[in-house]
Amino acid sequence: MTQAPHTPANLPERIKHFIEGQEVDSLSGATFEVLEPVTNKPYTTAAAGRAEDIDRAVRAARKAFTEGPWPHLKARERARVLNRIADAVEAENESLAELETFDTGLPIKQAKGQAHRAAENFRFFADMIVAMNEDAYRVPGSQLNYVVRKPIGVAGLITPWNTPFMLESWKLAPALASGCTVVLKPAEFTPLSASLWARIFTEAGLPDGVFNLVNGIGEEAGEALVAHPDVPLISFTGETATGKTIMRNAAENLKGLSMELGGKSPVVVFADADLDAALDSALFGVFSLNGERCTAGSRILVERSVYEEFAWRYAERAENVVVGPPDDPATEIGALVHPEHYQRVRDYVEAGKQDARLLAGGGRPEHLPEGNYLEPTVFADVKPESRIFQEEIFGPVVALTPFDTEEEAIELANDVRYGLAGYVWTNDLKRGHRVGAAIEAGMVWLNSHNIRDLRTPFGGIKHSGIGHEGGHRSVDFYTNEHIIHVALDEVHTPRFGASS
Ligand code: NAD
Repeated sequence: MTQAPHTPANLPERIKHFIEGQEVDSLSGATFEVLEPVTNKPYTTAAAGRAEDIDRAVRAARKAFTEGPWPHLKARERARVLNRIADAVEAENESLAELETFDTGLPIKQAKGQAHRAAENFRFFADMIVAMNEDAYRVPGSQLNYVVRKPIGVAGLITPWNTPFMLESWKLAPALASGCTVVLKPAEFTPLSASLWARIFTEAGLPDGVFNLVNGIGEEAGEALVAHPDVPLISFTGETATGKTIMRNAAENLKGLSMELGGKSPVVVFADADLDAALDSALFGVFSLNGERCTAGSRILVERSVYEEFAWRYAERAENVVVGPPDDPATEIGALVHPEHYQRVRDYVEAGKQDARLLAGGGRPEHLPEGNYLEPTVFADVKPESRIFQEEIFGPVVALTPFDTEEEAIELANDVRYGLAGYVWTNDLKRGHRVGAAIEAGMVWLNSHNIRDLRTPFGGIKHSGIGHEGGHRSVDFYTNEHIIHVALDEVHTPRFGASS
């Protein structure tokens, strides 16, 4: 028997929507069950939003946008609210980590940084809107053209279940900073932490109706939000297949779209690299956050002269990674989020066993007979055409492949449909820059795992996404540049219809 997880105090009997400052049930009364991933038992129910609930939330957001003060506040006034939100988020660190760990199965030690990162997003965009200027273009003596940046309206935010609260903050902070009002549809596997926003926002002084939350299933609540004619923007983070569906459904109303999608990112290790550092980083890059991270370095390409040694050292360390209850501070890999996802990951592991060499893991740890636990799994000699090389697994499973030349390394790195991140390990400065530039990805790190600088663009290319978030790009997404052209002198206009 698996020991039941530590249960946070005051779990809600029902997770509700939050619309126009009120917690509400679905108009139909429909609900869905929410499981925790250690026993896979339902621990609560959540209101299941449908089109009529989305419509109610959009109407509230629309009213707050057209009649409310939020879009018209001075940047400094909005920033004050955002900074109060950041302080409140940070003050919730312990309870947020407890909720995230319970609901998602993330190890508690890793869940503990999430509030700080979420708070930083609000601080960053508070600073940014206060410091931002608007452009002006002068044509001396004849025209002055200036840009007025205006929030677009109601933004629909659709988010995934991996690090849910933190990823919601990536969208909420710039959307609210820009003056938009929002409807958030969090992932149905992990709706628990999103309900913290309602209290935090209300206490920080965000006017009612600016933030609205509708829980529900993607194909119902999510699709209704994407289809709603009064929602001109959709910011989506999730699977590539879902992103494609959303693009199709958003086309009817020509919506602005930001798409942060899946990944299958390469880690390229050259023989001249600091192999100890590369080893630590390549282990952390795919086994942290249970391997459920979009930028996971899940394909490790290693120069042949050090391949075999690197692979064995990697496998040895992977076997030592502590898989255990998410609420245990010693745990390095917890329980995968949901039994459906767990099965999917296990199917990939079985597929890998058919066409690659299994070096470590490959099954459920013996000491954890229940719950969504998987040993860190390492495959070597993975062929580029195999499924575990090509497809996103989103779990603690990694594919190692050797290469002989720099050209081959680049070819292998780019031989997938995804293009989110890449990691290059070498002590040859020129080669590092060369390979870094040649990798088809939105973001590459040289001699490092994924460390974020909030000013830099974040996003993928190919099937990993469209558009970038981060810094002014996020504000660009949530605002329109409205241009006013002013004549400064007499304008010479051809006089149509003036001849006798
Ligand atoms: P998902 O696509 O299954 O779900 C994401 C969200 O979309 C959920 O809220 C879901 O309810 C909703 N949804 C599902 N179908 C919908 C539809 N037809 N219309 C509207 N909304 C719909 O993704 P997931 O399994 O929750 O998350 C994991 C995926 O997210 C992985 O592929 C991962 O790589 C990706 N991800 C990407 C980034 C990034 O920045 N690129 C970050 C984190 C996660």
